[in-house]
Amino acid sequence: MMGRPNVGKSTLLNRILQQRIAAVSPKPQTTRLQQLGILTLPEAQLIFIDTPGLHFPHHKLGELMNKDALLALGDADLALLVLDGSVPPREEDRIFGEHFHKLKSPPPVVLALNKKDKIHQEEFEERVAQYQKLIPGAPLEAISAATGENLDRLEDQLVQLLPEGPQLYPEDQVTDLYEREIAADLIRASAMNQLDKELPHVIAVRIDEYKEREGGNAYIEATLFVERDSQKGIVIGEGGKMVKKISSAARREIESMSGRKVFLRLRVKVRKNWRNDPNALRLFGFQKKS
Ligand code: GDP
Ligand code: MG
Repeated sequence: MMGRPNVGKSTLLNRILQQRIAAVSPKPQTTRLQQLGILTLPEAQLIFIDTPGLHFPHHKLGELMNKDALLALGDADLALLVLDGSVPPREEDRIFGEHFHKLKSPPPVVLALNKKDKIHQEEFEERVAQYQKLIPGAPLEAISAATGENLDRLEDQLVQLLPEGPQLYPEDQVTDLYEREIAADLIRASAMNQLDKELPHVIAVRIDEYKEREGGNAYIEATLFVERDSQKGIVIGEGGKMVKKISSAARREIESMSGRKVFLRLRVKVRKNWRNDPNALRLFGFQKKS
């Protein structure tokens, strides 16, 4: 599953799996982990890789994310390119298209033109034509990840193009990440949603404790890392207001993801320049798992 940030990949994944496994945010680059979404149908098992989007790197973190995205595409049986049909194609979408054609043996590609619900029918028809040009001849489905429209058609399309192979995961498994890893992503997304535009990129989350409590409840302690003292103040907010807001929104998300009651405790720390520090990146889970 490919596509530039914010086109709706995580929303689509959650919708297809009918479960919240990926963090959704109106701000780009919420998804930093490479996560599998596993859908078992009677006739096939679809394994989606929700890759952090391709984008132009400014930091080591950016480079790492691009490498992951490209590797994932090379290994895939199928490429599902998710596009935002509510706006005209952007430069990044074209670069996707070009890159795709340069691959030695590109997998079959399906275009999912998302956010059909957001604009008028006629305007959307125009977009279909514009986006089809990115990869001529590729099957294109006009969908809405938000309402679920045409997702059945998209699934059919994917199943048809899938090569035959063994079932890789048990049919009740929906993702390969642990609950605590998803929780970290949900906390980061919550921070991004509550904070100013400049800050989100400098926040990393580390889960310090994730304990089962009686009655199946969870007790979670996590640390939000920022790069500078001034940022720490912003994240904590006046009288701790901001961190409380982040925490209660994140708690609700984690509860809905895990289906249990959650007690969440957040603290904020400074780790200077963590985005360019390979040790810190590994610590925060950005390194690809082998
Ligand atoms: P990602 O970065 O590609 O994973 O995108 P997200 O799934 O995080 O979605 C980005 C934003 O687009 C969020 O605010 C979503 O609620 C919104 N969004 C996603 N799919 C749709 C859709 O089908 N229709 C509308 N109207 N909004 C959508
Ligand atoms: Mg995402």
